[in-house]
Amino acid sequence: MPSAAGEAVSSRRVGVLSLQGDFACHRAALEPLGVEPVRVTLARDLEGLAALVLPGGESTTMLRLIAATGMRDALEAFVRARPVLGTCAGLILLAAEADRLPEAPLGVLDVEVRRNAYGRQIDSFSAPVDVPAVGGRFHGVFIRAPRLRRIGAGVEIIARRPDPAGGAPEPVGVRAGHAVGLCFHPELSGDLRLHRWFLSEVAGLALPDTGGPGAMRALAASEGTE
Ligand code: GLN
Repeated sequence: MPSAAGEAVSSRRVGVLSLQGDFACHRAALEPLGVEPVRVTLARDLEGLAALVLPGGESTTMLRLIAATGMRDALEAFVRARPVLGTCAGLILLAAEADRLPEAPLGVLDVEVRRNAYGRQIDSFSAPVDVPAVGGRFHGVFIRAPRLRRIGAGVEIIARRPDPAGGAPEPVGVRAGHAVGLCFHPELSGDLRLHRWFLSEVAGLALPDTGGPGAMRALAASEGTE
C-alpha cells in the first residue's frame, strides 16, 4: 500500500505522536493487538507507518511543538492520506475548527470542536457511550474533553453519549474515511475494541488472532485494574 510519501507500507508499525501526551497507554492498547507501537517525534518517524494515533494531552502545546519540530507539513500530508485516530486533544488536532489555538488545526475532519467544553479538570468524568461499530456500549473516559459543535455533511457519527436527563444523545465520536476522532480516551478503558476496530476496519490491517478477550484481560491486569 503506498503511503502519503509514496513508499511501500507493508509494516505493522503504528505511530503514536509523542511530542506531549499519552504514549504509554496507547502502546498498552496497541501491543496486545499484534502491531508495533512507534514513538513519533520527528517528521521522518512518519515514514512507513501503517497508521498513526494522535493522543490526548494539551492541543495548544502539541500544535506549538508540531511547528517547532518542523513536522507540520509531513504530519498534514500523512493525516490527509493515511489512517489516523485522534483521541481528545488528538481530535482537536484533526478538526477543521477549534477555539483558542495558537495555530490552525490539521483540518482533516470537517468538524468544529469546542475545547474544555465540559469544564475544568475537576469536571472530568466517565460515562457509557454507544459505539455500534464495536458492538454497543463502551466505557467513555472524558478528561477536559472537547465537544463537537458542528459536524460536516460528509462526516459519520460513530459514537454517541446517551443524555442522562433523557434528551437526545450527544455525538462524541466521528469518522471521515480514514480519519477517526473521539472526544474520550479508549486507551484508558482497559477495552481494546476501539483500537482493534480502527486497526482492522479503518486501517485495513490483518491482525493476528491475539486481540480477543484474553488480550483485554492482559491489558486490564497490566494496568492494575483487575
Ligand atoms: N483540554 C485538552 C485540550 O484542549 C484536551 C484534553 C485531553 O486530551 N484529555 O487540548
